[in-house]
Amino acid sequence: MFRKIWNGFLDILFPRICINCRHYLGAENASSLLCSDCFGSVQTFRVIFRTDRGGKFLALGPYENDVLRTTIHFLKYRSASGAMKPIRIWMGQYLTDLNVRSWIGRETLVAPVPLHPARLRKRGFNQAQLIAEVLSEELDLALDTKGLKRIRNTGAQMEIKDRDKRKTNVRGCFSADREKFSGKSILLVDDVYTSGATIKEAATALRQAGAKEVNTFVLAKVN
Ligand SMILES: [Zn+2]
Repeated sequence: MFRKIWNGFLDILFPRICINCRHYLGAENASSLLCSDCFGSVQTFRVIFRTDRGGKFLALGPYENDVLRTTIHFLKYRSASGAMKPIRIWMGQYLTDLNVRSWIGRETLVAPVPLHPARLRKRGFNQAQLIAEVLSEELDLALDTKGLKRIRNTGAQMEIKDRDKRKTNVRGCFSADREKFSGKSILLVDDVYTSGATIKEAATALRQAGAKEVNTFVLAKVN
């Protein structure tokens, strides 16, 4: 009862609106960021892509989808815990639709693309790690957040428009711990796949550390 009154009170002071369409959400939808129309408008991919090296490349949806893009932006710059609520639901649905639990190896290690420590200090969290945590829970796989490191601060790839420059910008920026990854299958996780330069570089570091297979998961893939 108290909670209901309190939520109603908060709603008058800070009326909640959908982060995508700005539609009023109402007190009953207090924990949500998105109205049901926007939430339901995220069409997840129904195909499994392939990486250049033959690994499986899972992308939840297209970056061109306004709701997905807005939610990822919210995850990085506004409220990570708030944004992870709809993301977790989309991920659960996506993993079920593609039957990922049935074919992914039980020994697979989930590893997020790391931020450079200086960048991590500034942001306070690594969005890829939050996504990796959900994947490891949903798929019941071990998570490793320490073995892959970013040893050079490369700045934001999103701000570099030229494809070749993106590639050279990240070259040699990761180091991977051989003891952790040698002989293992890895599910490498990031938020957005743009040119693929960062993920390819991280996958190379994992393979150089002896990983036998690198599959990838991202929330959004730029078409
Ligand atoms: Zn909306």
